[in-house]
Amino acid sequence: MPVHNSEIAAMFDHVADLLEVQSANRFRVRAYRNAANTIRDQSRPMARMVEEGADLSQLPDIGDDLAGKITEIVRTGHLELLDELSEDVPEAIVEATRIPGVGPKRARALFEELDLKSLDDLRQAAEQGRIADVKGFGERTQAKIREELAEGDITERRFRLDTAEDFAEPLVAYVRRIDGVQKAEIAGSYRRRKETVGDLDILAAGEDGGAIIDRFVEYDEVDKVVSKGKTRSTVTLRAGLNVDLRVVPEASWGAAMHYFTGSKAHNVAGRRRAQDRSLKLNEYGLYDGETRISGATEEGVYEGIGLPWIEPVLRENRGEIEAAEKGELPDLIKPDDIRGDLHAHTTASDGRNSLLEMAEAAMERGYGYLAITDHSRSQTQAGGLSADKLEAQIDEIAELNEGFEGFRLLASCEVDILENGDLDFPDKLLARLDLVVASVHSKFNLGEEAQTDRIIRAMDNPAVSIIGHPTGRLLGQRRAYPVDMERLIEAAGERGCVLELNANPNRLDLSDIQCRMAVERGVKIAISTDAHATGGLAHMRYGVDQARRGWLSADDVANTLDWSDLEKMLKRG
Ligand SMILES: [Zn+2]
Ligand SMILES: [Zn+2]
Repeated sequence: MPVHNSEIAAMFDHVADLLEVQSANRFRVRAYRNAANTIRDQSRPMARMVEEGADLSQLPDIGDDLAGKITEIVRTGHLELLDELSEDVPEAIVEATRIPGVGPKRARALFEELDLKSLDDLRQAAEQGRIADVKGFGERTQAKIREELAEGDITERRFRLDTAEDFAEPLVAYVRRIDGVQKAEIAGSYRRRKETVGDLDILAAGEDGGAIIDRFVEYDEVDKVVSKGKTRSTVTLRAGLNVDLRVVPEASWGAAMHYFTGSKAHNVAGRRRAQDRSLKLNEYGLYDGETRISGATEEGVYEGIGLPWIEPVLRENRGEIEAAEKGELPDLIKPDDIRGDLHAHTTASDGRNSLLEMAEAAMERGYGYLAITDHSRSQTQAGGLSADKLEAQIDEIAELNEGFEGFRLLASCEVDILENGDLDFPDKLLARLDLVVASVHSKFNLGEEAQTDRIIRAMDNPAVSIIGHPTGRLLGQRRAYPVDMERLIEAAGERGCVLELNANPNRLDLSDIQCRMAVERGVKIAISTDAHATGGLAHMRYGVDQARRGWLSADDVANTLDWSDLEKMLKRG
């Protein structure tokens, strides 16, 4: 059974979650988290490495014990330790730890004290006002819990786009190999490159749907067949991801791709345009009475309703239809437009590769520059650099740059924005850097006004070039801290400050809509990977996808410039 790296990483993260709830030794918890990150960063499948008898303990943060556990997972699909821990700790407690301000210890205390079994129990307890009576909890936490559970997105299972890719790509490749399948593609929010995916929609063109579906449900990661018909089937994969397969005749391919790509709002608008022309649009084609006038291609479908083809990333009914009608669709940024990366860590702080290794990886991607942005001194748990160490790194970078041709490392720093908006290093030191990324890594609960003031104060310092991961969110784990994005964007515009679109698929911070808001007010965006290892530089494409969803063209993005032009653009005051 193929076990994907993301599945193994998820199991290790799950172990860490459960250990945390049990108040296990924090080094042990950290070991599992680090190992999960290492596995996620590997470009080679662990399953193949195990098969080839590779020594897994050579990987960073993987000792003999963890190497054995990886082998166990690859061979059996299970981890005994995880099964044992799961028996002791109700899953609902782990989910409750994701509520801001609750945390593992407090979540357990709450469940034990009130004898809760599920998140639903927790919701009821909050509504009945029983949480405020538990020692250590007050009205505020109770209100917070009620609010979080009402919004519901902790309980709804969504998959990060990169995780979904792990399952989707091999699966669609399998479908393409089935006899009688002429072509197959993934539609839905996956094709629209949304940051998270609820389920997968696969479309296959072929005549004998029944036979194709018989083979589809035999895929070896299928855990449960939910439904199985002649043209449609739904299965649940072992990882918990639901997959729909629909088989359509080739003559309907374009109409079906259009229909199943969505979004719903985009489709509704499309059907309305068809009606205005006395036509009917559905998943089989565009019809004039009983006659199908198009449907084999998406281009044909759009043409039939008087529009040019619209990029899937734009199909949210956020003005793309009106823009298409006027011939004003944006010229969207492409991965090839990127000239360099402006946020990366090395072993000097919490990264895993050296300056030289990171530089070589950036050159391999064809970049002209890479900014080294290790953490500043306040970030003790992330190995933040002292002022002396940063000085030494600046010298080391200058020395390395002498040996490069057509490439340079940029001396930089991801400097912490302190609670009062001050920066974590003195101006004199910051002045030695090529650029400065300033980020919030602490005090997420200041409240909207104070948090916004804090970040704007940091931008007041002309040394600051870019605000890193501006909302601090972690997809599926941590909500954005409250911040007034309009005010932030306005302030960035006034000061000539760039906002980051953090391309890590765990963050994708800013959101698509926030990116669009920023460029509409003349603020430039830096698409940066925040790579903590050479492999992390490859996350750039998720950032580009998100930027495309935000209607960005190459001109809107700072790091589509060569360094000489970018340097001028970043100069402030
Ligand atoms: Zn950061
Ligand atoms: Zn960073």
